[in-house]
Amino acid sequence: MAVREILVDGHPALRKRAKEVKRITPEIQALCADMLETMRAAPGVGLAANQVGVLQRVVVIEVPEDEDELLGGKAFCLINPEIVQASGSQIGNEGCLSVPGYVGEVERYERVVVRALAENGKRVKISARGFLARVLQHEIDHLDGILYIDKLTSPDKLYKVQEGEEEVEEV
Ligand code: ZN
Repeated sequence: MAVREILVDGHPALRKRAKEVKRITPEIQALCADMLETMRAAPGVGLAANQVGVLQRVVVIEVPEDEDELLGGKAFCLINPEIVQASGSQIGNEGCLSVPGYVGEVERYERVVVRALAENGKRVKISARGFLARVLQHEIDHLDGILYIDKLTSPDKLYKVQEGEEEVEEV
């Protein structure tokens, strides 16, 4: 496992659509492991492959135990994740490891159902609400070249914060 460099806004890989993973190879499994290590070292609650310069549809997510009673504290590597159901809405501040020093207000679905493959090739379905649902939407956006700063509720809802304090926050 290795910590990889996290690209910051302005790097073209953050603006490209990542390609579907056709086969789960040892390279993809190593990517999952590296991304988890990179996310934890940052630290962050999610990371998409675009952020380490790999244009494959892979995200890792690990939200704190107290943020989700069911799935908090569990680490996921999701391959080809897809939102298959979405409902409700939530407004809150979020940050991004690729946009250091800022948080901004974004509206997201309150609940999503995501289908993906796990790194062992098994199909997984995650029903999430609240914070975890927000993180899933943020990471899947990355795979389409979208950053949260594209989706601010208003241009003045972007706030400077101390570097290292930009992890996703709930208002
Ligand atoms: Zn991000």
